[in-house]
Amino acid sequence: MAGPLTAACYSPRVADPVEILTSALIPAARFCHGWPTRAGGVSTEGRASLNVGGRWGDDPANVAENRRRVAIAAGFDAAQLVVTRHVHGIGIQVVGDPFAEPAEFDGLVCDRPGVTVAAFAADCLPVLLADPERGVCAAVHAGWRGTVAGAVTEALAAMVQRFGSLAADVRVAIGPSIGPCCFEVGPEVAEAFSRALPDTPGVVVAGPRKEHVDLRAATRALVERAGVQPEHVDDRPPCTRCDSARFFSYRRDGLAGGVHMGFIGLRA
Ligand SMILES: [Zn+2]
Repeated sequence: MAGPLTAACYSPRVADPVEILTSALIPAARFCHGWPTRAGGVSTEGRASLNVGGRWGDDPANVAENRRRVAIAAGFDAAQLVVTRHVHGIGIQVVGDPFAEPAEFDGLVCDRPGVTVAAFAADCLPVLLADPERGVCAAVHAGWRGTVAGAVTEALAAMVQRFGSLAADVRVAIGPSIGPCCFEVGPEVAEAFSRALPDTPGVVVAGPRKEHVDLRAATRALVERAGVQPEHVDDRPPCTRCDSARFFSYRRDGLAGGVHMGFIGLRA
């Protein structure tokens, strides 16, 4: 078990620098990756300040500027950032493959140096996968529906089938997301996880009012079942709902809040 994620601040010349969390499991020399916090952007009010999501009503100019700041801070080419619209499914797209509109996927897989893929999330899991041996990576959005349906293992399968990755080589790092502390669920959600992972303790846990689900533990169990080594899973990110100073949270703020992203790309 790796983590917690380490933080680095960039752009020290400005008062409110962009802050990007990274996982020590993903080799920095090979991949540019990370999860920005909400610091260092230009959006205001509930979206203050580094909102990178364009679907909840922020000024598109703010979103573009925020993404540009992330690219500068992280060191990737903003013009080569590939994103997609998420639909809480398990559709995975390999960058460069033909696809039919609308471009709606929950994961992007890429082996092109210099190209960065991203997944958006505000409580959902922004999961990054990296295979240093084959030089292929993926960004996946997984809420509870995507998690239980296997969005992350679908991305892993695409890496294996298309690029010859071995699951044992793949690193899986989960970014800031709602933790088991805050993810209270109704009985139908708890039941879905109990059914999908009947022998995995810690996925559905008792809470003060209702049951809680640990989406990180579920993700770990699913990827380990698919062949990922336990020590290659980073599953201790901060909870987005607990820390309003650093993170947006859909459960806490609704559509008036902002959206984060996890990004990853092979270095050019
Ligand atoms: Zn929490």
